[in-house]
Amino acid sequence: MKINKSYVCEKLGRTLNFLPDRVSFCCSYAEGPGLKYEKGMTLNLKEITKSEMQFIKLLKNGKIPAQCSGCIDYKEKKYNNFFEFLFSKQSSMLINEIIVNHFKQCDCNCVYCSQKIIWGDETQQNYELLPIIKELFKADSIDKNNLKVEFQGGNVSVLSEFEPLMQEFLNNGCKYFTILTNGIKYLSVIEKTNSMSGIIFRLIISLDSGTKETFAKIKQIDAFDEVIKNIKEYGIKTGAIITLKYILIKDINDNSREVENFLNLAKELRCIHSLCFDIDYRDILFDKSKNFKVLVHYGDLIEQARKFCMENRINFVLLPYAEQYIENNKKV
Ligand code: SF4
Ligand code: SF4
Repeated sequence: MKINKSYVCEKLGRTLNFLPDRVSFCCSYAEGPGLKYEKGMTLNLKEITKSEMQFIKLLKNGKIPAQCSGCIDYKEKKYNNFFEFLFSKQSSMLINEIIVNHFKQCDCNCVYCSQKIIWGDETQQNYELLPIIKELFKADSIDKNNLKVEFQGGNVSVLSEFEPLMQEFLNNGCKYFTILTNGIKYLSVIEKTNSMSGIIFRLIISLDSGTKETFAKIKQIDAFDEVIKNIKEYGIKTGAIITLKYILIKDINDNSREVENFLNLAKELRCIHSLCFDIDYRDILFDKSKNFKVLVHYGDLIEQARKFCMENRINFVLLPYAEQYIENNKKV
């Protein structure tokens, strides 16, 4: 019997991205397959696995799910004969990446926040994640030694499940954590992990400014001093690898003076591993022409930051989407 085209995606089955309205099965740039969450439904491992298997089977039978369209991660797979096709399974299906992104509560109100645009004003948190994680561990579905956990959100400091979730991951021997936060509240749980060997904690703090005034304009809250105090404490009391983030926002912080203030501040703090630059994605979301271009002077601001980081031995990061838009401008 002739085997028609068959595909496999190595990411499918290894990532669980918990969103407010669904569990996505990968973290792809395409929308990605997932299980929709309906109010009142019980999200459990059985439901997640059942839904995931449908997508794996579709690919195996040569059909590209609409959610994977345009993605570069599925690959064609060849089988020697029909029996191999029939009985083959995707190799290890242990989960090695969990993204905690099912909540949208936050204690500030950034002007660039796309959460409300994407999820709406009312969305906060539709389900509890801790019981699902406990079930995954109980069923031995997680690759504990290699699991990467990323807390996105919202802001974890207002997620009531945050500490219990952290405790569950730590109790199970997980070691790799990334937390995206606005830095307004000190997360003492990070300190507690200091005495545990092998834990790698990455902390990404969105500061977006170098002065109190600009911070208040962007975050719409007067909390600059608290954030700076907390960054210093993380530097002294924890082994966290700290990244400060700067999103370029039109007419607010997209000028050389503010970028310079931010760079100097990062240097003075003496505990910053990386500076990460990005663009304001509202500009793309609201661009009706679908021909979005970043402002030309963003390229100069990025070069200013890149040069400063090189001279001061701070790691410089420009996120791929932002880089793509800035490079496109150079070609014009
Ligand atoms: S092919 Fe792409 S979109 Fe589909 S599951 Fe794999 S990574 Fe996700
Ligand atoms: S910290 Fe994040 S979630 Fe909170 S308002 Fe700012 S962008 Fe939105």
